[in-house]
Amino acid sequence: MTTAICPGSFDPVTNGHLDIITRAAGIFDEVIVAVGNNPDKKTLFTIEERVALLKKVIDDTGLKNVRVDYFEGLQVNYARAQKAQVIVKGLRALSDFEYEFQMALTNKKLAPELETMFMMTEHKYAFLSSSLVKQIVLFGGNPEGLIPPVVFESLQAKMAEVRERV
Ligand code: ADP
Repeated sequence: MTTAICPGSFDPVTNGHLDIITRAAGIFDEVIVAVGNNPDKKTLFTIEERVALLKKVIDDTGLKNVRVDYFEGLQVNYARAQKAQVIVKGLRALSDFEYEFQMALTNKKLAPELETMFMMTEHKYAFLSSSLVKQIVLFGGNPEGLIPPVVFESLQAKMAEVRERV
């Protein structure tokens, strides 16, 4: 059985992420979407919120071989603990390449038995990122086709909550 990990911040999950997860689910026996908890990284949603949102969205896809989890620390340690063989990453524009290249080589050094595999983004999501979606919703734009409706609702609620605090 081949298990793949799709790691990321997912702050929040977008249709670009979902495309990669769905395609990975068609190739590997099991896919674990692993939400990273990096205390140094400032996120809009808490780790619990990001995991809950992903669970809802994955549930709606009906994909039976995908589960959602979270991890702290190194991706390779998490992958080993889950007995995964592959780390799957999505690649957008050239700007992703340098960072992902560095990460893949570092992970190979730390855990030579693990493979990192890249999937090229679907062209309609090539420009899409969680940050872009947050900007669109913050300034009242319509992110239709970029995020699932349940993510849009959560983003609107979160923005309202943040606005109330300031
Ligand atoms: P990180 O904060 O670790 O970069 P993200 O949540 O932004 O995590 O992304 C997780 C993974 O999903 C990364 O491999 C990233 O390249 C990929 N990804 C993000 N957006 C897209 C997209 N629009 N198309 C394809 N892959 C994407």
